[in-house]
Amino acid sequence: MNHFVFEPLRTCSLPVADSDARFPVARVFCLGRNYHWGDSPNGAREVPAFFMKPATSVIDATGELGFPSQTDQFCHEIELVVAIGKDGFQISEAQALEHVWGYAAGLDLTRRDLQMAAKAVGNPWEPAKAFDGSAPITPIRSVQVHGHPRQGAIWLSVNGVERQRSDLESQIWSVAEIVSQLSHSVGLRAGDLVMTGTPPGVASLQEGDVIQGGIDGIGTFEVRVGSRRAA
Ligand code: MN
Repeated sequence: MNHFVFEPLRTCSLPVADSDARFPVARVFCLGRNYHWGDSPNGAREVPAFFMKPATSVIDATGELGFPSQTDQFCHEIELVVAIGKDGFQISEAQALEHVWGYAAGLDLTRRDLQMAAKAVGNPWEPAKAFDGSAPITPIRSVQVHGHPRQGAIWLSVNGVERQRSDLESQIWSVAEIVSQLSHSVGLRAGDLVMTGTPPGVASLQEGDVIQGGIDGIGTFEVRVGSRRAA
């Protein structure tokens, strides 16, 4: 009889809003730039840049965030999270929303100094994006109950001072376009999450900072940045 040589990792999951069910997380895809930050040509739609975080980076957006190692620029990025509920490969834009199970608000936490260092020499971004706890996410709200958001304020404040604010209708790539484009690169699976990019205003976090953020109609959260661990 075949058996594992040790217990496999428990499946990472997120709570479903207004339910005792949980959403099992398969993979986490992230979109690099999806709002105009004022540093790109008006109306330009560059080719969307996707990267990944491991499912193990997903945590509930509550309580205290661990301060990651190896960074002096630990940055917040508030993002709409799309939760995929149905497998699909080469999905058309017209059918893309049928593959969406729900939505949440999340943070694409980033070690910006490591990202800049990687970009400077053409290395991958993983050290900047794929650390433990780098994807705090609110409970997922199902499409079945809440539908698909067309608009809604997306915002983030630190210690009561607003740093990021935009609206979902300002996204350069729509959810249907993102799901369709991603599915032409890889077969999407139920349980995949897609973080859809952040508005301008990203900045560094310090120990003890209190982050409040959310997306109107989708979810809000408050988390506190923990202390650095001694090396
Ligand atoms: Mn991001």
